[in-house]
Amino acid sequence: MKPLSVKLRIAVWLTLLMGLLAVLLLAFLLSISKVVAAQSSMSQLSQTVRSNLSQTGMANGRLALGDSFSFYQDGVSTLIYSREKALLAGQIPVSFSIEEEFQNGITRVVNAGGGQYLVLDLWLPMGWDNGVWLRGLMEVPENRQLTASLLRVALIVMPAFMALAALGSYWIARRAFRPLDSIMSAAASINEAQDLSRRIGLPPGRDEFSQLAATFDQLFQRLEKSFESEQQFAADASHELRTPVSIIKGACEYAEKYDETPEERLETISMIHRQANRMSQLISQLLSMTRLDQGTETAKLEPVKLNDLIRSLCQEQAYDPDRLILELQEEVTAAADPALLSRLIQNLVENGFKYGRPDGCVWISVRQSGGEILLEVRDNGMGIPSEQQDKIWQRFYRADPARSGEGGTGLGLAIVQQIAHLHGGYMTLESVPRVGSAFTLHLPAAESSAQATA
Ligand code: ADP
Repeated sequence: MKPLSVKLRIAVWLTLLMGLLAVLLLAFLLSISKVVAAQSSMSQLSQTVRSNLSQTGMANGRLALGDSFSFYQDGVSTLIYSREKALLAGQIPVSFSIEEEFQNGITRVVNAGGGQYLVLDLWLPMGWDNGVWLRGLMEVPENRQLTASLLRVALIVMPAFMALAALGSYWIARRAFRPLDSIMSAAASINEAQDLSRRIGLPPGRDEFSQLAATFDQLFQRLEKSFESEQQFAADASHELRTPVSIIKGACEYAEKYDETPEERLETISMIHRQANRMSQLISQLLSMTRLDQGTETAKLEPVKLNDLIRSLCQEQAYDPDRLILELQEEVTAAADPALLSRLIQNLVENGFKYGRPDGCVWISVRQSGGEILLEVRDNGMGIPSEQQDKIWQRFYRADPARSGEGGTGLGLAIVQQIAHLHGGYMTLESVPRVGSAFTLHLPAAESSAQATA
């Protein structure tokens, strides 16, 4: 069986609840009406008997009744008994077929064979040792008529009432759930048509659905952006790889077609070698970036003495000590991944040489300031125009491809920034064209980073 929709379930639940309420209300009304009827019968009985009592007296040693004495009035029969309980006047109703003890002034309900009776006895003293009993009898009304009319009304009103409740609650639920329908249809069409540019676009509001729709729209926007940048990345990567491949293909085709001199052949081979190197560099940078992106390669932070790390990196890479100047006075320890941090410094130093003057220098300095560790790589090279300073961090962006030549991929600084973020830090740049550039890595000081990771 198909499960009921939430809207229908709400409508059914409310209708059943309404039905239950209506039944309870009816039962309550019936019991109230019984109590009210019993009370009005009792007061009727008491009133009639007492008014007859005031009309009863003795005249010349005999019982004398006033003009307004009535033996039967408004369903109340009044009987007069002697002190010895002998009936003096009045007529016992046929259905009152029992002997009931006399109790002065107490109204009670008595089962009298033929039905239930309200009984009230009043003692009227006459002289020192005489008197009479007045007994009032009233049949307890069975309320059948009232019950029947109440049930008749209920039978007409209740179904109409429940139908109204069902329709009303379904309508309200439908209206309340309409935004959810738009959210579902937008999500389905995004899924089916792969159209990430679609938005739910609910008007802004404070209810849960508007907030949910706004959150979904933000999510779609982020998905669209990241999908676009993925596509851009794939397109840029294949474009970058295609260039060396076509150079290699062209060189091979030329070598096959024409008889090259040994010198020309050597030149072709070295060109193929350079392009292969470029491809290998690009592929390894792409791989490392993807690993960092996907979290396959994560930063394993440990206390690292930055001066030692920089010195051993310079030795490994055999940088010219006349052109790479280390300004390492303070001993600073950072929570860092030594391999990743070395890659970051290496990228910055190599850029410093690549975009520096032919005889230019690169300076590395480390210091601690406030809660931050600052690692700066500075050069006195070509500098970067201010309008390009934000863009150089983007993947594949090269401010001056002619200058970086075949060695540049446009990925170096994107990797630098990724590594900085993995360390809980960030990069800043100060650069003046034709004067030089200073790239600074800001890392949380070891103490505060330990607190952050704790
Ligand atoms: P590339 O492989 O082109 O060097 P990067 O991401 O390392 O890629 O750098 C991006 C661009 O930023 C470079 O093409 C260059 O124009 C500019 N750039 C990077 N470092 C420097 C620097 N030290 N001085 C001047 N320009 C720089």
